[in-house]
Amino acid sequence: MSNPTEPLHFRPLAAFLGWVFPGLGHIASGNVRRGVFAMTGVLFLFVGGVAVGESTQAICDVVQFTASKLPEHKPRYLMGVGYAHDIVMAVAAGVDMFDCVLPTRNGRNGLVFTRQGPVRLRNAVHTADSQPIEADCDCETCAGGFSRAYLRHLFMAGEMLGPTLASLHNIRFYQRLLLDIRRAIGCNAWSSLKEAWPCLAASPQSLHGDTE
Ligand SMILES: [Zn+2]
Repeated sequence: MSNPTEPLHFRPLAAFLGWVFPGLGHIASGNVRRGVFAMTGVLFLFVGGVAVGESTQAICDVVQFTASKLPEHKPRYLMGVGYAHDIVMAVAAGVDMFDCVLPTRNGRNGLVFTRQGPVRLRNAVHTADSQPIEADCDCETCAGGFSRAYLRHLFMAGEMLGPTLASLHNIRFYQRLLLDIRRAIGCNAWSSLKEAWPCLAASPQSLHGDTE
């Protein structure tokens, strides 16, 4: 009998390719040592147990504790995280890969991410706003000429095209962020990230309530 709370797509990967490290409820060096001993032959390492809804500090504690004890020659994959500032923190701690529902879950509900912070497309302020979600974004939605006003109309009318276009932008937002993180690592310009992405300085609590 399958467990409905367990993501189905992780199970075969966890079984054959990687080793899952437990997170928040099992933060103990003994767990990590046993995991490192048993993972010979795996391709990469999963870090789990934290997800959307945990505080940024809780995620930070688990990721920094766990990542610092894993061997450097194996890629590390953090499951289910997260907001932009969570990802930057995790990369700084040594995480390489992520997955998260936030881009599409929020896109479906009319909340889009920008460098300046999240934008709710249903808000009346966008009724006559001819600007794209982000002027410098190259996604199909922004570069395709879809205005905030038109996107708001789609959401207010219940048209499925609205969630689709908002999700496309949000996915590209995360791709652009990761590309900038990669560049920052490559040219040792880590501190410049916050200048290019003001949303990284936003209060974590103000974002953690924006998932629905
Ligand atoms: Zn866009």
